[in-house]
Amino acid sequence: MTELNQLKQDVMEIGRWVESHNWCPATSGNLSARIDDQRILITVSGNAKGALTEDDLMEVNSQGDPYNSDKRPSAETLLHALIYGHMPDAGYVIHTHSVYGTVFSRVIWSGDIRFNNYEMQKAFAGVTSHEQEIVVPVIPNSQNMVELAKDVDAYLRAGPVCPAFILAGHGIYSWGTTVADAKRHSEAMEFLMECEYKSCLLLK
Ligand SMILES: [Zn+2]
Repeated sequence: MTELNQLKQDVMEIGRWVESHNWCPATSGNLSARIDDQRILITVSGNAKGALTEDDLMEVNSQGDPYNSDKRPSAETLLHALIYGHMPDAGYVIHTHSVYGTVFSRVIWSGDIRFNNYEMQKAFAGVTSHEQEIVVPVIPNSQNMVELAKDVDAYLRAGPVCPAFILAGHGIYSWGTTVADAKRHSEAMEFLMECEYKSCLLLK
């Protein structure tokens, strides 16, 4: 199997995985993989992530523009391109519109979410202790992708420890070097957001 074909299989497999958790309902979210420094494989706009076919995938260049394709990329393709551009180790990006990713960022609309003293923090690559605080920004959502990209670019430029960020009332972006890394980071974020949400209910 060529590398590109393997990447297609990987993205389709991630799609079935996010669908199994209902993290990309109603055709929301986007999934992608880095082909090389110039090209990204990404889901086209508006498809059910649990039933992706090769026809639901397209190539874009490092700016997020279609590459050898007349398909329409998702509006959020630019954010995937920014992640690959700034994070040389990123091989896969998973963007979910999950319930906890959405609800909890409606409590904290902007600023940072700080995860402390969760054993799960060690799911993030390079984190070896629950005592290492994990800071994830909640970036205000916008339909103006250029404006949104400016905020995301500033966060990525600073070299974040946590391979994730949250768009307020919208969802979670996370990434990893391998499929397993990207899934583990995505799952850890979903777990931590759910824990924080439930902690808020208990502390009320
Ligand atoms: Zn989205």
